[in-house]
Amino acid sequence: MTLDEIKNKVRDVYDFPQKGIVFKDLTTVFKEPECLRELSKHLTDLYKEKGITKVVGIESRGFIMGAILANQLEAGFVPIRKPGKLPADTWSESYDKEYGKDTIEIHKDAIQSEDIVVLHDDLLATGGTMLAAYHLVERFHPRKIYINFITELEFLKGREIFPPGVDVEALIKF
Ligand code: AMP
Repeated sequence: MTLDEIKNKVRDVYDFPQKGIVFKDLTTVFKEPECLRELSKHLTDLYKEKGITKVVGIESRGFIMGAILANQLEAGFVPIRKPGKLPADTWSESYDKEYGKDTIEIHKDAIQSEDIVVLHDDLLATGGTMLAAYHLVERFHPRKIYINFITELEFLKGREIFPPGVDVEALIKF
């Protein structure tokens, strides 16, 4: 199955979660066994030669393929979550959203300096959430940080927010 065929399975939901937003719904991809398997294969192919030791998934849609990718790469999985959800000591990072601020957290013992990390989320819009996640992971000084999305809304130019030289990949572009 090609990436174009997978792209055609993504469902547009208009005015969700608020008026004017076209929400890219990937549940229509995940629910089909062949799509899920092929998506997993395409993602794994991108990183299998990179020596990844940790996949960091962003709550909550980044947990789905993030955990599958970690398993495929024989790496560990680390969650980044909304405030108050992680039980042990955390680092936090706040960032600006369109309306107000948001915060994300990671466990303080989640990553070591020997790790090679890929950060994963389902979709790149403005990039604000992933940049905050990148800053969180930078605190651990891992050997390298890759950034990965399943889909990217190219017209929002979110990838320009990341520091030059950072490897940012998205499989499917809209
Ligand atoms: P951003 O920080 O603007 O890049 O937003 C990224 C986060 O919001 C991701 O976790 C996405 O799941 C979600 N998101 C933002 N816009 C959309 C959209 N149009 N369709 C689906 N998810 C979206």
